[in-house]
Amino acid sequence: MTLPNCPQCGCEYTYEDRGLLVCPECANEWTADEQEETTEGLIVLDANGNRLADGDSVTVIKDLKVKGASGAIKQGTKVKNIRLVEGDHNIDCKVEGFGPMKLKSEFVKKN
Ligand SMILES: [Zn+2]
Repeated sequence: MTLPNCPQCGCEYTYEDRGLLVCPECANEWTADEQEETTEGLIVLDANGNRLADGDSVTVIKDLKVKGASGAIKQGTKVKNIRLVEGDHNIDCKVEGFGPMKLKSEFVKKN
């Protein structure tokens, strides 16, 4: 496993110390799972193969069942201000009427 570069100065000689990542250059310390805003290298494509970016608005292209909710997110639902995340469900967003949730990019298209 390679450690991420320092988010503050970009130094690549970071090391791990008791669960913290430490930068020898600027003495920045952070936790590995707190890699916020490191989605620049993340490539997330919508159903049409268009690349999505943080802040984009998308439309849901099929009804999506929501765990714990009575209804489904309906096809055609518009979702504003998405945030890209890593993983299987790679879009973090807030859907009106449902609240914050994660969607798969293959089920949306860019507006
Ligand atoms: Zn640093």
